[in-house]
Amino acid sequence: MSQPAAPDHANPPHNSSSAASVPSQVFRQVVEQAALAISITDADARILYANPTFERVTGYSQAEVTGHNESILSYRVTPKIVYETLWAQLKRQRPWNGMLVNRRRDGSRYLADLTISPVVDENGNTTHYLGMHRDVTEVHRLERQVQNHKALIESVVDAAQVAIVLLDEDERVLLDNHAYKKLIGELGQEPAATLMAALRAQIGPGFDTLRANRRGLSNRELLIEQPGRAPRWFACSISWFEEQDVSADAFYEPARRHYLLLTIQDISELKRQQEAIRINGLHALMAEQERIQGLREALAGAVYQLEGPLNLLAAAVKLLDRRKEADGDAALAAALDDAVRQGREALDTLRASIPDDAGEQAQSVDLNTVLRDLLKLATPRLLAAGIVVDWQPAALLPPIAGRPTQLCTLFKQLIDNAVEALTEARGGPRELRVATLAAADHVEVVVEDSGPGVPEEWRFKVFQPFFTTKGADQHHLGMGLAIAQEVVARHGGTLDVDPAHRAGCRMRVQLPIGGARP
Ligand code: FAD
Repeated sequence: MSQPAAPDHANPPHNSSSAASVPSQVFRQVVEQAALAISITDADARILYANPTFERVTGYSQAEVTGHNESILSYRVTPKIVYETLWAQLKRQRPWNGMLVNRRRDGSRYLADLTISPVVDENGNTTHYLGMHRDVTEVHRLERQVQNHKALIESVVDAAQVAIVLLDEDERVLLDNHAYKKLIGELGQEPAATLMAALRAQIGPGFDTLRANRRGLSNRELLIEQPGRAPRWFACSISWFEEQDVSADAFYEPARRHYLLLTIQDISELKRQQEAIRINGLHALMAEQERIQGLREALAGAVYQLEGPLNLLAAAVKLLDRRKEADGDAALAAALDDAVRQGREALDTLRASIPDDAGEQAQSVDLNTVLRDLLKLATPRLLAAGIVVDWQPAALLPPIAGRPTQLCTLFKQLIDNAVEALTEARGGPRELRVATLAAADHVEVVVEDSGPGVPEEWRFKVFQPFFTTKGADQHHLGMGLAIAQEVVARHGGTLDVDPAHRAGCRMRVQLPIGGARP
């Protein structure tokens, strides 16, 4: 059995043994033909040898530099500390790498990426230095140019009034600007997530298709409701761009990364101005509606009042008709008959002159906006009556197909009733809660007051025409809820007094998203 060979301490394995297998002139040829500028100096940095690439890069011939210190290349703008560090490293017999500004023979400058290695003899003394450098001026120029462009783009993006945020494919924020950072303070944690969720909810399943096809969106208006804060409006745009993967893995197999650029413009002020104009218009519209409604109620009341005596008169005519042969008073019967006929004609004329409000065209109506506008309109009255308003809109309420003026009349009536009930109530809190809720096929609106409430026995009667608990007068003909009921019915919805609510009155309106009947 053979024993393993004992280590040969006299001739330890050494790199020099493999180097010995390469003829020494090959080493010289390697240095001579290298594409790097190579120089060899003595221990005081005096040049002993320079290769042809050194000559090409510096413009000095070998003969011109031999015996000179490498400082012949120094342009004197390289800070002293760089040389001190270089030499400190070399003195520790460690290689040094760094950038120096060099000057060629013709005076032109270039940036040298230089590596210096000490050459140490068998006694541990540095005998020579090996210097290798490349002209990296162009690479540096390109790098700086990219950095400058990046800085320029960043400062332009930062100066933009529009919030800009770059998201990766998982919608994580990669980059943002000042305007976006400001939004974080105003909208909380991650505005991009809030707005992307709102876009998703607004667009529905189509959003994922857009996303999968990397299709952009422009100027989508989003309303963000925040409890206890003024609602905010944003116009959002999305654009996609792709980037080549810069990792080493993707050098021969290019891969692409996709990014989503979200721009967010706060249009709340514009919307507030539009709202002010809308509320002025609503004010005028409601005043006109009230006038027409007053007329309708007065005429309907007159018809209602006249129908009674006219029916009595008609009954008397019938009675007289039966007796007229016996009594022979045909002339009186004919006169009364004539009076009844003319009375009926007058009633028909009155009925025909009741203004009709069914002519309005159905359109897409956002009930949050309608209710917010009505509450704004009622603000002076609410403040004067010391009523606390709790407005709880659904964050995402689908629009319904409805007749805007009629819906305004409906909800104004419910709010007016609640305000009146609260104003009349003695003691206790004066609270008005208005809330909207979104369901699969309908939206629900709740108008709730902390007033005396509607007694159980009147729960259905309050919707009958001319039913009033206040004694009919100029203001209370008892037609308000009857008209409200009519509007709801025309929209295919329901209106009722919630029997479960005991602490006041809760009116519930449910309106189908499909909307109004023609
Ligand atoms: P110097 O007076 O030469 O030196 C500045 C400081 O460096 C001194 O204060 C001192 O602390 C330190 N220092 C200098 N020489 C020594 C030394 N021998 N021992 C200890 N400390 C020392 N410089 C370039 O500008 N461009 C080059 O391409 C370049 N290539 C080099 C290649 C090699 C192989 C070597 C060894 C050096 C190279 N140098 C190069 C450095 C060069 O030798 C000079 O140190 C440098 O140019 C600064 O020169 P200076 O006359 O301004 O200052």
